[in-house]
This record gives sequence, C-alpha cells and structure tokens, in this order.
Amino acid sequence: MVTVSYSFAQQLKSEARNNNSKRTLTHGAIKLETDRIFNKLVALRRDLHENPELAGNEIRTQKIIAQYLLDLGLEVETNIYGHGVAGILKGGKKGKTIAWRSDMDALPQDFPDPVAFRSVVKGVQHGCGHDIHMAIGLGIAEVLAKNKESLKGSVYFIFQPEEETFIGAKGMVNSGLFSKIKPDEIYGLHVSVLPVGQIMVKPNEMFAYQKRVRIKLKDELPKEDAKVLTKKIHSALFRAANGSKPWEIQHINDPKIGPANPNTIFKDFLITDEKFTIYSKNGNLFLEAYLYETNSANLEALIPKIKQVIAESGYNDQLLSISFVQENPTVINNEKLTDIATKTLKIIFGKDAVTTDYGQLPFFNDDFTYFQQKVPGVYFFLGGSNLEKGIIAMNHAPNFQVDEESIRTGVKSFSSLILERLKKN
Ligand SMILES: [Zn+2]
Repeated sequence: MVTVSYSFAQQLKSEARNNNSKRTLTHGAIKLETDRIFNKLVALRRDLHENPELAGNEIRTQKIIAQYLLDLGLEVETNIYGHGVAGILKGGKKGKTIAWRSDMDALPQDFPDPVAFRSVVKGVQHGCGHDIHMAIGLGIAEVLAKNKESLKGSVYFIFQPEEETFIGAKGMVNSGLFSKIKPDEIYGLHVSVLPVGQIMVKPNEMFAYQKRVRIKLKDELPKEDAKVLTKKIHSALFRAANGSKPWEIQHINDPKIGPANPNTIFKDFLITDEKFTIYSKNGNLFLEAYLYETNSANLEALIPKIKQVIAESGYNDQLLSISFVQENPTVINNEKLTDIATKTLKIIFGKDAVTTDYGQLPFFNDDFTYFQQKVPGVYFFLGGSNLEKGIIAMNHAPNFQVDEESIRTGVKSFSSLILERLKKN
C-alpha cells in the first residue's frame, strides 16, 4: 500500500493543478469519499454476512440493495429475473454507459466461522465473498451518485442472484436485462486468496475450461476394472508443465509458480478429477469426472481421446456413449478493455496497483461470462487475504475469511476506473 499512497500523492497534485472546476470529480475526491463511507460499508457487509441467502432465495438481500440504491437517488429495477436488482445512475451529462456487476448469493455450508457476525441462518454462509462484492457495488454506487452532476454518461449497477448455481446471469440476460439497460462496457470482480490490496487480471480466459464428462458403458465391467480404466483415462489426458501440480490451487500466491509469474504452473494444462465417480444405473455403468483444460483449441479432441483409451483397453464393445453433461462457458476478458483498465489503474494508483495474471485457474468459474457474451467486459480478482491477521480468502474453503480492507480497495479503484471510462467517448 506504500506505493499506492506515494503515487496517489502525485495524482492529487496533478489533479489540483488541472482542476479548475470544483464540480469535476477527481480520484482524490473518490478516495476521500470511499474512506468516509468505509465504516458504513463494513457494517452493511457484516449484516449481509450474518443473514446470508442461498441462490434463488435472495429476498432480504434484494430488499436491502434496492433500498440502498433508492436512497442514493438511483432508478431501481427489481422486476428482471429472480431477486436481481438493477440500479441506474444517470450522470449530469450525456456520454458512455458502464455496468458494474455484483453477485448476491451465499453457499449451502456450515463451517466454523470465527467472526462475531457469523451467519444466523443454519447451513447457509457467505463462503465465497459475495457479501463483500455487494458492499463494493453499493460503495461505488454511493461514491459516484454523490457526484452524479459531474458524470458524463450513465452507470448501471447490476446485482445478480444465483451465481453459485450458474443460473442468475443467464436468467437476467434472457429476461431482457440489456433491453432495460444498454451498457457499452461491463466490469465485475471476485474476492480471491490474493493479498488484500492486490488486483489481478488477464486478457481472455481467467479460468480453465471446466467440463464434466460422462462415459456410459454396458454394466458388464467389474467396478475394479472400471477404476483401472478411469486411471488410464486420467493419465492419458493429463498435461502439465514438467512435474508441476496445477491442481494445488494454494500456490496462487507463490511468486515463482503462481499466476503472477509468466512461468506459472497455472497455464497450459489439462487435468481431471483424480478419482472418477463410478455408479450403476438402469443396467448401465457410468464413469464421470470434471476436466480442466486451458486451451480452447484442445476441447474438441477430448472425447475422441477418451474413446481411444477405451478402445485400447479392449472395452469398445462395452462403450455406449461419451458426452459432456456440464460445460459452462468461461470468463473471457476483452483484450482491449483489459489493457486499458490495467493502464488506467496503474496511472492512478501506481504500477503495483494491478498484477498481470498469466495463468488460468482450475475448479473456479463465474457466470459473469454470460454478460460478457453480450457486452465487452473485464472481470478482476481482488485480494482478500491478510496472513498477518490470519485471514485466508480461499473461496469455498472451510476457513474462508476476507479482510474488509478489500472493500476500500474495490470501491476506490473501480469508482476511479468507471470515472475514467466515462470520460472516453
Ligand atoms: Zn463466488
């Protein structure tokens, strides 16, 4: 954070020189306003954390968000899809339109949570940080709404339900979200295990392509032989840099092999579940596993390759079908906007404000991709860990916690980015 404040001082000086009109919103003013509302945002986040709601049930959450946006003077639309909310902030002048997305739902889990504001809803917890995302989304809305007269264009705040089930974004898009709002660009983030204060982004795919393959065989194969077959498939498909283990996601913060290093282990790999799920149903035998492939060009060859292993193992007569039973699209960041966003954040907050990501993480994904299919956009990782405080923000993990300072980083960084994007026509 030292680098950030140093370059911020420079930024403030140049803003002071250039700022003839008091009504122009500056990055210095954004920072001050963010600091001013920070405690309120933390309290709001804690309330959401204490009262989490599962995908499809974000009733209380929706009410709180809609009221907050109404109080800021935004136009609010709640009749789009599920318990989603869209807030429309119209600037004082005509211009560009930018959307910011926050997801709303919590997870079905019951881990020990050491915080004083732990969930009061049994079996439901904000174990993925969407409570932080909502606080950031509302914080950006507040900072910008208080300066709306000076804004050129409109900002749309999309609060999306049902992210964990991969349904909400698609639901909002299919229900006509983009006929109600027409953003030129869309942005969003996800809290991650990176250190607090850090933002990470890459152009194109942020995650590996995740697919679940189902192999259907005649139920003649003993389970033990099926197990041997899945092991053969597993090793035939496997591809990773020499000796590396891209499934060991805890290396994400490792400077040598983590995604911040161009030689990261999190690129150019194909991994599968170590153990396939093997079960019999209706007289057939099923083998199922998740596959994670980083290169889209290799996706079409996956099923033929599995077929080949089955044939070589002598089970061609038993094979009935191979199909993908789940193949969600992946977050793909617009190259040009990623480059612009990275440069913009570095100019305002210093060269360490954004880390370039060279990898694609397995296991995770985000249905933000459905918005990106309609509107060019960028999805960022926002650091939430603080090892000194014992906080590790590994999403969905039993000990997941988030340093609330990430709310401050998120609000000031992305209010500033949106401000800059609105200036460009
Ligand atoms: Zn999440």
